[in-house]
Amino acid sequence: MQHPDSELWFEGWYRFAKQVGSPNFGQRPANTKIQLVVIHSISLPPNEFGTGHIEEFFTNRLNHDLHPYFEGLRGVKVSSHFLIKRNSDLIQFVSCSDRAWHAGESSYKGRDNCNDFSIGIELEGAEFGGTFEQGQYETLSALCASLLMEYPIEHFAGHEHIARGRKKDPGDQFNWLKFQKSLGLQSSYFPDQVRN
Ligand SMILES: [Zn+2]
Repeated sequence: MQHPDSELWFEGWYRFAKQVGSPNFGQRPANTKIQLVVIHSISLPPNEFGTGHIEEFFTNRLNHDLHPYFEGLRGVKVSSHFLIKRNSDLIQFVSCSDRAWHAGESSYKGRDNCNDFSIGIELEGAEFGGTFEQGQYETLSALCASLLMEYPIEHFAGHEHIARGRKKDPGDQFNWLKFQKSLGLQSSYFPDQVRN
């Protein structure tokens, strides 16, 4: 898609992201306000970075024979709107106008089906005990500042906060306070348990 240079956003696509279109998306319900940003972490295989397999997975091009872990991903069709790699590269798979398949069964602040009204951002990282790169925080902050200008975002939460007991990402090494400070937002934007 040709992106007009003058606009930061064009039909839900962010100008500073590399576009890698995924077929894994659907329409949001009519008149849905995008009010939530969901932070995730992923690495494929687990704890290995820079393999390119996340992009393959989100676009249904993963070779499942390459690694035993990939066997369990056969037939799984998922996506996020964005991926921030270890080297800070930013990739966009799905237009923010559309509903990406990142949250699964989920609920936040009494509202189910978070995919309907959220934007999903994956950080390349280990789900358990893995830290994130400074550059990833910077790219995340710039992206989220831009999302706040474009959409009526009211909350930021981790996958672990909207799918309790089922998901643990981005994990306890994600520094929510650092993220909050970088955006200059009040703590009310964030899950209760990460408030200072
Ligand atoms: Zn997740």
